[in-house]
Amino acid sequence: MKNILVVGGAGYIGSHVVKMLKAQGYNPVVYDNLSKGHPQAVQDVILEEGDLGDKTRLAEVFQKHHIEAVMHFAAFIEVGESVKEPSKYYHNNVSSVLNLLDCMVEHQIFYFVFSSTAATFGEPIHPKISETHPQNPINPYGNTKLMVEKILEDFDHAYGLKSVALRYFNASGADESGQIGESHTPETHLIPLVLQAAAGKRESIKVFGNDYPTPDGTCVRDYVHVNDLARAHILALEKMEKENKSLRYNLGSGSGFSVAELINQAKAITGIDFKVEYQARRAGDPAVLVADPAKAQAELGWTPQYDLKQIIATAWNWEKNRRF
Ligand code: UDP
Repeated sequence: MKNILVVGGAGYIGSHVVKMLKAQGYNPVVYDNLSKGHPQAVQDVILEEGDLGDKTRLAEVFQKHHIEAVMHFAAFIEVGESVKEPSKYYHNNVSSVLNLLDCMVEHQIFYFVFSSTAATFGEPIHPKISETHPQNPINPYGNTKLMVEKILEDFDHAYGLKSVALRYFNASGADESGQIGESHTPETHLIPLVLQAAAGKRESIKVFGNDYPTPDGTCVRDYVHVNDLARAHILALEKMEKENKSLRYNLGSGSGFSVAELINQAKAITGIDFKVEYQARRAGDPAVLVADPAKAQAELGWTPQYDLKQIIATAWNWEKNRRF
């Protein structure tokens, strides 16, 4: 199974997966409407422009490239926006994916890799979140991703469509080549915002809350390098195909760092003492989100290779020389 359609392959995580697929001998084809993605991120891989809702275009691309499996990255990802504009999220993150899945079944393509999220778990009830943790999302973004996970269970049962759902914790860092990296408009993620403050592109970094029940009062998150995530996608794709079964994994390092700790590390790595402003909490942020990656380690042999310092260093390399 070598011909992989990467939907949303011009985006942050998708572009890193495409680069790794190619390096490992696969034939990735990117399908992207470029509403958020960057054509420069696709590099030397075929880019087919199109919408997920366009069945005719999807069918054409499936046939032209003899697609055998689909990886999906084309989702809206901002929690705050999802609360204000849920309709947009349910249309793009659920209806369009359902359209894609219908189209796959019509064309007898039965392997799907889905970008899910730690946000499907909601408020953690255990210190580290494993695959058996209850899934009770607390925002529309998390709801959309959980809905697709449910749709995928039903599609396996009814049509034999096998899927991998990968629940990412905090995807971060950039490819060491400096050719691709994180670029969202607007940017809402902590590491790029911190590094833009270091680079003088922002006046300060605003920390959302220092009254959480954590050691220093700021939120704790589990940061995982985008190339470690990319590796997990390929390992999971191969296991799904070999065993012909659907799989679910939580992808994080298993270690949590607070926002304040991360900012201090960024100051040390960049050598720049940028301004930090403390503000009120952001709605929808759990105090602590840390993965239990034991299942991915045991079943995929996956262990993250980048620590937080390397994540910040690669993101800083990208920030200083960003191409898009
Ligand atoms: N955060 C912050 N200031 C910002 C952006 C994020 O303090 O400008 C905090 C946010 O409240 C959360 C952590 O940084 O505790 C990580 O947020 P991010 O949006 O990067 O990822 P999330 O955990 O929401 O997926």
